[in-house]
Amino acid sequence: MSLDFTLSDEHKLVQTSVGQMLDKFESRKAEFRQMAKDGDGFPEELWQEYAKVGLTGALVPEEYGGNNMGLLALMLGFETVCTRGFSPGLLLTIAMDTCCIVRNGNEEQKQRYLPGIANGSTKFCFAVTEPNAGTNTFQIETHAKRDGDTYVINGQKTFISGADVTDQMLLVARTTTFDELKEQGKGKSHGLSLFVVDTKSPGIEMTPISIPLSDELKQFQIFFDDLHVPAENLLGEEDNGVMALFNSLNPERILAAAICTGMAQSALDKAVAYANQRRVFKDTPIGAYQSIAHPLAEVKIDLDAARLMTQRAAWAFDCGMDPLKVGSYANMAKFLAADLAIKAVDHAIETHGGLGFVEETGLINQWSGARLFKTAPVSREMILNYVSEWDLGLPKSY
Ligand SMILES: Cc1cc2nc3c(=O)[nH]c(=O)nc-3n(C[C@H](O)[C@H](O)[C@H](O)COP(=O)(O)OP(=O)(O)OC[C@H]3O[C@@H](n4cnc5c(N)ncnc54)[C@H](O)[C@@H]3O)c2cc1C
Repeated sequence: MSLDFTLSDEHKLVQTSVGQMLDKFESRKAEFRQMAKDGDGFPEELWQEYAKVGLTGALVPEEYGGNNMGLLALMLGFETVCTRGFSPGLLLTIAMDTCCIVRNGNEEQKQRYLPGIANGSTKFCFAVTEPNAGTNTFQIETHAKRDGDTYVINGQKTFISGADVTDQMLLVARTTTFDELKEQGKGKSHGLSLFVVDTKSPGIEMTPISIPLSDELKQFQIFFDDLHVPAENLLGEEDNGVMALFNSLNPERILAAAICTGMAQSALDKAVAYANQRRVFKDTPIGAYQSIAHPLAEVKIDLDAARLMTQRAAWAFDCGMDPLKVGSYANMAKFLAADLAIKAVDHAIETHGGLGFVEETGLINQWSGARLFKTAPVSREMILNYVSEWDLGLPKSY
């Protein structure tokens, strides 16, 4: 059968409707940037528009109030948001939490959480990272102990984005301790469980971490001290949360790649516009100099490659392909796109000369945003490990 690279009318509609919705907020970008800088408030109005245009419900089945348009459509929406210089913010954690609930939740849980996600009234964050367990997820120690109809949770998480402005947290905790695993002769991938936790529950304390990024989300260190969670909030099977967790990481990587291609497009658009009008010697626009033009042309080529890889990964996810295959596509797309975002912002700054460092130009603040994606949600090094092991069949070193 033929290979078709054209987007469907539905997909194009996502791009245009998201773009038109953002027109309303164009003059308020500085306000949102200031919000991020001050770490104060949340752009609720913009969030509600994300919901109205269907982005929060893109992965929610229609019977739970969503539009189920899929990950490819959602990634196109993400890309448009970032191309226009806005931040998808919580849409990223919501998307991965939605996947987790749709695939692993029971009927009652789906009815409880999904309609609110779709209509924008319920916001979710995602909490797996701990001070001693970032890249190595299996090392997490936060412990959930069953006590009658509740689980009692103790431990801590770190770097949790948006915990202050969300209603619920998808929390990864250990229901079997390391000592118990040893006794049972089981590996560390066993004994992880997923819980939906009300972020306002007693027993939760949050401390902000100072991370100057250009989006509006703050990151938090979170402490759990005898937090009581109803047993009905356990998502999937106790002790067997690992596959449920990893199935949500593929969409997270694909959407992270889309954020990066959007940021790269935004930086490229700014650079090209400036290179066409800035004249330094005689009447020649600086874009005529190959030292300015060629790096931008390279960004354009890399952008097409990264975008195609990201679309392929999203398409494979939507088709329900084997998660390991989707994982390869997702990782490779995220790898290319994250490197590209840094390169694109760097060339755009160089094109602007001194103006590249002026805040209003909007590039220097994009730098930290672009740089983040080399490290999180999965680092460049771990993607190379994944490809070495799963795509090339090389031995694992760690
Ligand atoms: C702004 C921001 C927002 C975040 N939001 C969230 C969130 O909402 N929820 C959440 O749970 N987490 C979140 N994180 C955490 C993020 O996912 C982790 O920081 C990331 O996974 C890396 O973990 P770490 O910081 O512990 O680094 P470490 O695990 O300490 O790694 C340090 C370095 O060593 C490298 N390394 C480690 N092991 C290997 C290996 N085997 N081979 C090669 N290299 C290796 C890593 O690639 C990395 O470069 C966020 C982080 C940031 C900065």
